[in-house]
Amino acid sequence: MQKRQFGRTKREVAVIGQGTWYGKDDDRKSAIATLRKGIELGMTHIDTAEMYLSGRAEEWVGEAILPVREEIFLVSKVLPQNASRKGTIEACEGSLSRLNTDRLDCYLLHWRGEYPLDDTIEAFRELQSNGKILSWGVSNFDVPDLREARRFSGDEGPACNQVLYHLQERAAEHEVIPWCEKHHCSFVAYSPFGHGDFPGPRTPKGRLLKEIADELHATPRQVALRFLLHWPFSFAIPKASDVDHVIENAGAGDLLLTAMQIDHIDKAF
Ligand code: NAP
Repeated sequence: MQKRQFGRTKREVAVIGQGTWYGKDDDRKSAIATLRKGIELGMTHIDTAEMYLSGRAEEWVGEAILPVREEIFLVSKVLPQNASRKGTIEACEGSLSRLNTDRLDCYLLHWRGEYPLDDTIEAFRELQSNGKILSWGVSNFDVPDLREARRFSGDEGPACNQVLYHLQERAAEHEVIPWCEKHHCSFVAYSPFGHGDFPGPRTPKGRLLKEIADELHATPRQVALRFLLHWPFSFAIPKASDVDHVIENAGAGDLLLTAMQIDHIDKAF
């Protein structure tokens, strides 16, 4: 599994991680089994949030990672309605308790809300100085929000911006990705398979992915994930509750697309 530096942190993090936004059909047992399989295959970058299943996802993650906590890059998120100075600290403590750990590797503001950003960032700094979080970042931020975050944080800046990005939704390429590149902010692609909306095998786009996949002895999903990683500072966090899906996703960790294959996908989508 390829690794990359995460933001300005000193951590090398798996380019393909594991999302945990479970739905009503997901259950604890299969969630834990797939997370563990993914970890075994190098997908040690785990993304969760206090929001997911109202905290239950964090409990499942805590259980899955307990024997291997040191290997994990663990990310969770505070909801904007909790992101006051005091509320952020309390929310983080709640996440740490559900995750059964003493620290998060990165803590994100889930999306921009009504609390002043400097209050949230001040809380992040306090959590960092107490060793409860090792870095902080943001999610769903457009460039004006990113600029504001940097005004308060200076060069320290957010370690990452986690954003909707998949083959059929590439708006982030216009401004957000260039901003991230310029400011050493990792770009983390969420819903990399379109949250269930992946091009079917009989569509022209699905056929192109299959053609490229055949050239590489890979699968269309592996090609799609790899395309999202052609930015040297990007990561992707697919969610899977099926062990075969996890195995397939991990297989994209070392895949390499040629410049021509990237160009074909770029034009087709
Ligand atoms: P996603 O990863 O784009 O898609 C998940 C769906 O794809 C599931 O139905 C899963 O099925 C299926 N899948 C996964 N791997 C597959 C494979 N190899 N073959 C066939 N199907 C496959 O959707 P997502 O959960 O929206 O996004 C991923 C993660 O990003 C979330 O879990 C969450 O951690 C994060 N996220 C963050 C935000 C934010 O606001 N920051 C928003 C959305 C998501 P099975 O479950 O059956 O395996």
